[in-house]
Order: sequence, then C-alpha cells, then structure tokens
Amino acid sequence: MKEFRAAIRDIPDFPKKGIVFKDITPLLQSGRLFQKVIDEMAERCRGKKIDCVAAIESRGFIFGAALAYKLGVGFIPVRKKGKLPYETVSVTYSLEYGEDTLEVHKDAFSPGAEVLVIDDLLATGGTLKAVCQLIEKLKAKVAHIICLVELSFLNGRSPLGRYSCECLVAFDGE
Ligand code: AMP
Repeated sequence: MKEFRAAIRDIPDFPKKGIVFKDITPLLQSGRLFQKVIDEMAERCRGKKIDCVAAIESRGFIFGAALAYKLGVGFIPVRKKGKLPYETVSVTYSLEYGEDTLEVHKDAFSPGAEVLVIDDLLATGGTLKAVCQLIEKLKAKVAHIICLVELSFLNGRSPLGRYSCECLVAFDGE
C-alpha cells in the first residue's frame, strides 16, 4: 500500500482553488502497480457473491472495467446526466456548490443482483451514496464498495453508513 500512496501525486488548487487533487496518473503509468491495484481489489472480493461491477464516470471506469474482467462479471457504467443512450433511472445529489445527477440504464441490474461498486476516490461520500441509491432503485443490492483512495478527513464513510466499504489507501490530512 505504501507503493500506491507514493505513486499518487498531490496537485494543489485543481480544479479550483482550495482543492488538493489526488492525481492517480503516476500510478496508472506503472503496469506493475496498476496490476497490483486490480489484484488487491479482487482479493478484497474473495468469498463475496458479486454478479456485476458498477463504476462511476470517469476514473472509476479505469478500475471497474479491469476488475470486472478479472472477476469474470459484467460491467455497468454509471454516468453523468445525458450521456447514456437508452432509458435511464437517475439520482440527483448535492455537491459543495449546487447539485449533480448520475444515471444508469433502467435494465442495468437484474432485481436482486449483488453489485460491487467501484470508484477511484472517496471524498465526502455523496457520489457513492447516490450510486447505491440507483442500485437500490432498480431493486438490486450493494454487495460491497471499493475505492483506491480515501480522504478520511472528509468522513465519507458516514453517509455510506450501512454499506461495507474498503479503500486501499487513506490520506488523513491535506
Ligand atoms: P465525493 O462525492 O465527495 O465522495 O467525491 C468523489 C468523487 O469526486 C470521485 O469520483 C473522485 O474522482 C472525485 N474527487 C473528489 N475529491 C477529489 C480529490 N481531492 N482528488 C481527486 N478526485 C476527487
């Protein structure tokens, strides 16, 4: 995990002033580390029943797609409003300033399916909570949540209360 942490770069004031952006591209540049991340995520799924992987646009797709391949299950893209071509269900959630809407196709999950949720980073938890709501709207179940990075000082686990969530690397201050 130390290796993962060392390969994540801080970019101050991106995309706006006051935000320290966690840039994962140095980690992705290393085939060895990228493979290790996917292997570690797969390890954390061991013994769990997982029918598909749902990942969040856009950096979640990087890990979600590779992990779905490794687990041999389907991949469900969760996208920003207006990007999916077929009929969708949506959830709107609050951001620090304003709100955002996430969508999935209305036939994305079979009722009762056990869904693994993947994103690159857990900050306030609002995004992941919205995805869990989408999954439940379609009568599927959140089997587990995995992220590469957690910004633990933002308490993102609190809105995720009843879901099981693991992050491979935690940063507890800026
Ligand atoms: P949140 O809903 O606050 O948990 O935000 C999580 C989403 O925003 C993830 O999809 C991240 O990709 C992105 N995000 C939030 N904060 C950061 C940050 N400091 N660095 C990189 N990505 C971030």
